[in-house]
Amino acid sequence: MNTRIPESCGGLGLGSFDNCLIIEELAYGCTGVQTAIEANSLGQMPVIIAGNDQQQKKYWGRMTEEPLMCACCVTEPVAGSDVAGIKTKAKKKGDEYIINGQKMWITSGGKANWYFLLARSDPDPKAPASKGFTDFIVEADTPGIQIGRKELNMGQQCSDTRGIVFEDVRVPKENVLIGEGAGFKIAMETFDKTRPPVAAAAVGLAQRALDEATKYALGRKTFGKLLIEHQGISFLLAEMAMKVELARLSYQRATWEVDSGHRNTYYASIAKAYAGDIANQLASDAVRIFGGNGFNTKYPVEKLMRDAKIYQIYEGTAQMQRLIIAREHIGRYKK
Ligand SMILES: Cc1cc2nc3c(=O)[nH]c(=O)nc-3n(C[C@H](O)[C@H](O)[C@H](O)COP(=O)(O)OP(=O)(O)OC[C@H]3O[C@@H](n4cnc5c(N)ncnc54)[C@H](O)[C@@H]3O)c2cc1C
Repeated sequence: MNTRIPESCGGLGLGSFDNCLIIEELAYGCTGVQTAIEANSLGQMPVIIAGNDQQQKKYWGRMTEEPLMCACCVTEPVAGSDVAGIKTKAKKKGDEYIINGQKMWITSGGKANWYFLLARSDPDPKAPASKGFTDFIVEADTPGIQIGRKELNMGQQCSDTRGIVFEDVRVPKENVLIGEGAGFKIAMETFDKTRPPVAAAAVGLAQRALDEATKYALGRKTFGKLLIEHQGISFLLAEMAMKVELARLSYQRATWEVDSGHRNTYYASIAKAYAGDIANQLASDAVRIFGGNGFNTKYPVEKLMRDAKIYQIYEGTAQMQRLIIAREHIGRYKK
């Protein structure tokens, strides 16, 4: 855990590439456990990108001293894909900000020691996103925070997902990241850094689907032959292998861009979109190869299929990644 926190604050100080190798392996075992662990990096990333010395020491230091969780609060019941549509408000009063609003689908929401929170700080609804939002670090035990019930999700069920209500929550101005109005940009930069790890997790799941399907096909006979000896099955396994290798390269390219200090929006979205899609395809193909057994909880692949779906939803949906890729791609031609 906390692999991205610098060594000076007690962390491992790993780069994006190394972090993603660990994530892929954890996800191979269970993407629910992996998501619960990686939610810490999601909450920490804005502080890695934009935190000042004091904030970094205070909020990273405690993560490495105790087994604590943190969480990232962006999505709301009314707005997920449309981040600029969020309604949570932050109003400055003296040396504090008063926060009111509701967040939804927050991973580790009920376990976190502190939250990264995005709120609208400019009351003018016409204020541009680049100026209208502010990022806060919020202590989870601040009065006025009400944590909802653990949501019953289709997959990744060990990961704690909740709604959280913020009612007159007072946050000191020292807990603002960079300054008022900088919030949207930091949130977008965060997603560039956190999408490759999500892609790496999807690859871990896809590799597991391929391995389970191959082992099964090596043992099951139909029409007097092993499944593996039917060309229809062996070609399907070949297609699965091609997809998993390419998805792995796509996240590794995106992490190389991060570790080289390049803007990686384009590659992060390609990796997230592609790996999310192939995780779903491979999980479904694995269920197909298992036949009736694939539909049953005694075998491992039905869980993979349930767990895979979220990779086309969180951290920006499959459609939103395509919007970003198209914008980045077309933008290169317009220069
Ligand atoms: C298990 C889980 C964990 C999560 N963890 C977190 C977390 O820790 N922190 C956090 O802040 N959020 C978290 N989320 C929220 C997640 O990021 C959002 O659910 C996601 O971004 C989609 O937002 P939405 O649910 O509001 O869907 P909507 O934005 O309402 O979208 C609905 C559908 O419409 C499509 N759509 C929307 N706009 C367009 C468009 N312009 N063009 C084409 N299609 C479009 C979407 O792709 C989607 O298919 C989590 C969600 C889940 C389910």
